Amino acid sequence: MGNRIGPCTFPNCADHHGAPYLTSLGMCEPCQARFARTLGWLVMDWVGIHTALPMPARRGRQERRTAQKVFGHPAEWASDTAAEIGAVLNETHDSLAEYLGETPPPHPGITERLRVRAAWNYLECRIDKLALTDFGGDAATEMRDLHNQVRSRLGLTRPRQLLPTPCPVCELRTLFRSIDIGRDYIECGGCGHVIGEEHYPFYTRMVLDTILDSAA
Ligand SMILES: [Zn+2]
Ligand SMILES: [Zn+2]
Repeated sequence: MGNRIGPCTFPNCADHHGAPYLTSLGMCEPCQARFARTLGWLVMDWVGIHTALPMPARRGRQERRTAQKVFGHPAEWASDTAAEIGAVLNETHDSLAEYLGETPPPHPGITERLRVRAAWNYLECRIDKLALTDFGGDAATEMRDLHNQVRSRLGLTRPRQLLPTPCPVCELRTLFRSIDIGRDYIECGGCGHVIGEEHYPFYTRMVLDTILDSAA
């Protein structure tokens, strides 16, 4: 955990000469903010895929035909991608907890949603620590690539995702997340309320809690 000065390890960090910024933090501060945003977007990608996945078929009931298409795309892609996101988050959580000598995360026998929430709660407030490790840069690359893959798979200029929690202002379930290139925002389709980027981490936690509570 040295404080040696070296090039920022975040993918594609570049100063005006095109070289990564030099920093003693592992990653320069703007890149740490980028990392936090990428983590948040990826968790929300997981939420979008997860909430759109068909429920396991009930006993004695025929599967609905609509189960073929999820999030606008084949169910197989969706469940594979959700699992991949869950694995990256869980592995990063595991590596960082080991590096810091802290309690390891729930392991793969536990449901994906528990692992995703545990990873979010653990990593979101430890980006500065993750930045100092020698695996932080790789984790950031993997998360960014997965997020870009999800976004391009959605195939629209600005895909929208209906969120499972009510609007904090009008209390209707009409909150949409818009996924723009390099930018996300959440807006209520009912009253027009916009959730600012500064409230995004809090809101992400609320969405994950909602998913867990509704599964109980
Ligand atoms: Zn940087
Ligand atoms: Zn509203």
